[in-house]
Amino acid sequence: MRFPQSDTENRRRHTASHIMTYAVKMLRPDVHLGVGPWTDSGFYQDYDFGGSPLSEHDFKDIQKKMRWIINKNFAVVQQDVSEEHARAHFAGDPYKQELIDGILARGLALSFYHFQNDAGQNVYSDLCAGPHLSYTGDVGAFELTKIAGAYWRGDEKLAQLTRIYGVAFATEELLSEYHHFIAEAAKRDHRRLGQELGLFTFSDLVGPGLPLFTPKGTFIRRKIQDTIMALSSAEGYTEVCIPHLAQPDLYKTSGHWEKFSDDLFHVRGKNDAAFVMKPMNCPHHTQVYASQMRSYRDLPQRYMETTMVYRDEKHGELSGLSRVRSITQDDAHVFCRLSQVKDESQRIVRIIEQFYARIGMWEKENFWVSLSVRDPKTLEKYLGGEENWSTAERFLEEVCQEAALPYKRIEGEAAFYGPKLDFMFYDSLQRERQLSTIQIDFVQPERFGLEYTAEDGTKERPVMIHRAIAGSLERFMSVMIEHFAGAFPAWLSPVQCVVLPVNPAHDAAANALMERLRQRGVRAELWDTSETLGKRVRNAQTEKLPYSIVLGDTEAASGQLTVRAYGQETEQTISFDEFCEVLQ
Ligand SMILES: [Zn+2]
Ligand SMILES: [Zn+2]
Repeated sequence: MRFPQSDTENRRRHTASHIMTYAVKMLRPDVHLGVGPWTDSGFYQDYDFGGSPLSEHDFKDIQKKMRWIINKNFAVVQQDVSEEHARAHFAGDPYKQELIDGILARGLALSFYHFQNDAGQNVYSDLCAGPHLSYTGDVGAFELTKIAGAYWRGDEKLAQLTRIYGVAFATEELLSEYHHFIAEAAKRDHRRLGQELGLFTFSDLVGPGLPLFTPKGTFIRRKIQDTIMALSSAEGYTEVCIPHLAQPDLYKTSGHWEKFSDDLFHVRGKNDAAFVMKPMNCPHHTQVYASQMRSYRDLPQRYMETTMVYRDEKHGELSGLSRVRSITQDDAHVFCRLSQVKDESQRIVRIIEQFYARIGMWEKENFWVSLSVRDPKTLEKYLGGEENWSTAERFLEEVCQEAALPYKRIEGEAAFYGPKLDFMFYDSLQRERQLSTIQIDFVQPERFGLEYTAEDGTKERPVMIHRAIAGSLERFMSVMIEHFAGAFPAWLSPVQCVVLPVNPAHDAAANALMERLRQRGVRAELWDTSETLGKRVRNAQTEKLPYSIVLGDTEAASGQLTVRAYGQETEQTISFDEFCEVLQ
């Protein structure tokens, strides 16, 4: 589901968060409070319960009190307070004192929000900049959803707090839509489906965050990779191949050493020679460019590669294929002149369009594009020169306009090294997934001293474009498994159809059909009669195979095929050629 986004919804979420805290304080008056913001989908609040935290078993009690607070319809009233007042109110709460320090350090006013009863008395007060709804009764439908550990200020060396999450909606209908969404998301969870469909696995011996792909999972990966490679070569990309190790100097030159130091896997060679596993491919690719003298006639140089990078993600943050330590990127880098940035970006947009059209996600209501540009108030923090920046920003905007992409220009979202386009897709549950990206980079070419000879013989600096179509193959697979609920379209399925002879008398006809299917490039399996036909038909549904072909007397005689598509109740009779065409 797409969670409604608006000022009112943010107010609703934040008001609900305070209602939760008031309710929690009724149960645990001594609780100390960490942060409690609203999010795009709900709200949360961090609590320090001392030694004995509340648990999900307490949700019923908290929600009962929350309902009472809503029914009381307290007025929500803002008041600026003095430092003395704020500190006294939260005497003994070290987190609030620290938050007060922070607000004062930024020169901001200390703002309280009170819940007031009809007599104008404050029944509950909290430090908050707002905004909120006017009355607690305006909140509508709400629910507490989960509880988790969280560190104060996100720092694992600091105190561990208890974070309670919730959702709030204007109506009960939206809340029940949310329930449906949660149930559907659980059914589609790629960690469960990936196991059931036998696509990938993890091994304690290999280690956490290092997925192993089975033949079926590898087939899907390969299909995605080949599709992107084919679309890219049509736009003039050629493949390169780089080792998975490099000396630290590569990343010291690129500037990634500092930024990635925490995520790098270090490797020691003979005599203690130091290497790291590559956390990205860009620096290696600059060295392919730098291997020759380049003239303006050689540009653009377009290098693509599907290859793994390695990042030492925190153990606690690893999750299925969504967050892994071995990440396969469908990576490419273009080295070109500033004047070529528009054409190159258009080429990449064409690849993205064709690829997502095949996936079935390229409808205007199914994606949007974020155009990240500079924050006009802090132009000094962006490297690469005014002309480069303003030209590239204009080019990217023109690319969006000319391709009629649904885009939003977002100021301040650009990286310090260049503007970018991010493609955000909605999956079948309407969850937003950031997948493709086109990132302009003025800084890497500078750091590596890349150049080319211009028409007049002078040396010029190329611009670098980073692009990814699927993002990482691991995360993309997790998104696709959940998007299709494991029922992949036939072109992406490792097995496209099963042939099911009704009884042993049809084995010969089934074998002959298998032979013909194979010759037409159809990926088919023959399931023999050791199981009943009913059982085999059900198994084909469980394995979410696109098509099952039942072969009995009628079919053997007529040469026609009786085909059932996945998820369909009825069968249809079509000719062999028609069926092969459907698959193509
Ligand atoms: Zn608030
Ligand atoms: Zn890159």
